[in-house]
Amino acid sequence: MHELTKDMEVLQQAIVRYSVERVRMDPPELDSPRDAAELSAMAGQTITEKGLGGLEALRLFTDVLAPACISTDHPKFLAFVPAAPTEAATLFDLIVGASSICGTTWLESAGATYAENQALKWIADLAGFGPESGGTFVSGGTAGNLSALVTARHKWRRGNEGRNALRGLVISSKGAHASIKQATYVMDADLLEVGGDQLTGDHVTETIESLSPLDRERLVAVACTAGTTNLGIIDDLSGIGQAAKHYDIWMHVDGAYGAAGLAAPSVRDQFNGMELADSFIVDPHKWLFAPFDCCALIYQSPALAREAHQQQGAYLEVVYDGVWNSSDYAHHLSRRARGLPLWFSLATHGTHAYTDAVEQTLLVAREAATRISNHPHLELVVDQSLSICVFRRIGWEPTDYKQWSDDQLERGESFVTPTKHKGETVLRFCIVNPRTTVAHIEEILATL
Ligand SMILES: *Cc1c(COP(=O)(O)O)cnc(C)c1O
Repeated sequence: MHELTKDMEVLQQAIVRYSVERVRMDPPELDSPRDAAELSAMAGQTITEKGLGGLEALRLFTDVLAPACISTDHPKFLAFVPAAPTEAATLFDLIVGASSICGTTWLESAGATYAENQALKWIADLAGFGPESGGTFVSGGTAGNLSALVTARHKWRRGNEGRNALRGLVISSKGAHASIKQATYVMDADLLEVGGDQLTGDHVTETIESLSPLDRERLVAVACTAGTTNLGIIDDLSGIGQAAKHYDIWMHVDGAYGAAGLAAPSVRDQFNGMELADSFIVDPHKWLFAPFDCCALIYQSPALAREAHQQQGAYLEVVYDGVWNSSDYAHHLSRRARGLPLWFSLATHGTHAYTDAVEQTLLVAREAATRISNHPHLELVVDQSLSICVFRRIGWEPTDYKQWSDDQLERGESFVTPTKHKGETVLRFCIVNPRTTVAHIEEILATL
């Protein structure tokens, strides 16, 4: 143990007290951003030669910097995809930080890897993936999608040297997340966005049939979405799965937001066909109540991912001994054992609590959709899907939406941002927080 100086003891207590109080806030302040000039006036130069001392640095954080960060766990934060980590998960994150675990290799982190793999197994089982499946936790959906598609490309080129000189080609829907496009950009591959908001097996078949022989040869993968970010739409996973098998291409499912719905019996059948995929992702930091940053990336055949991603080096030879190294399954090496907060919360509460929590948010989303439909000034733009409602305020121009949204945030009331549907500015609720109640929704709707 380091010697505990008086200063450090005071700081220790202050940090633990703040952390515990922060996770217990129900609700926390919503807070809002400030511009750089304001922050500079309020916080000044924080990095100095002699240091400010821990208590002063902590005060700057709690009084100035933290209030300039929106609380994603506020129950009326319904913009983008909010976050609602369990207390158990967030508190355990302190332990992960304190334990100085390098979650890279079995050699360094066997215990953590064992636990992370149990959490991954729960998710893989929900998706109907086989006993050989496995993967790793990466920082987010963007990293997960990229790593999965790199594995797909590896398989496509494996044993086929002629393809080394070819650019890969990936098919996805127009509703797919921007990170799919970004992944193909990083891979120097091409993306073909087909269909509409939802991708079907027929879209995939028609697209492949219409490809030139060269493009057919370039085809690496179909990247489908289980819960589009904007509308919550789930692609026709069964149909796409059959087409992918027929044409022997990789099927990846981006479930960063939506695949948490696998845990909810009321929507589970919409995910049928997920088990046909070669890989999928889900972000527990979105709808599975884990703190940032946490994406589960799972493959049917992790050995292929290992071939694609394992880094070689003289100093690494000691770690390859037929063991499971979490770093081998994605584009990363050193890694925080970021699956542990999810594991701890799952181990603490049990999986039924997760089912209940996801169902609770779905219930509130359905109630929200009913109230929107019954509201004199509001109309659903598309059917409510998963826990997303997209709706218009009749008579509003884009500037009205922005003004209303800014005003809500400024007053610390809610954070709901406009989005677009077919070019029209509309509003969108994304409900992933079990503390969001129907009463919260009604409070927001009353201001519209
Ligand atoms: C949020 C999201 C992503 C990106 O995930 P990050 O964790 O933000 O990198 C990818 N796909 C979908 C469908 C998403 O909703």
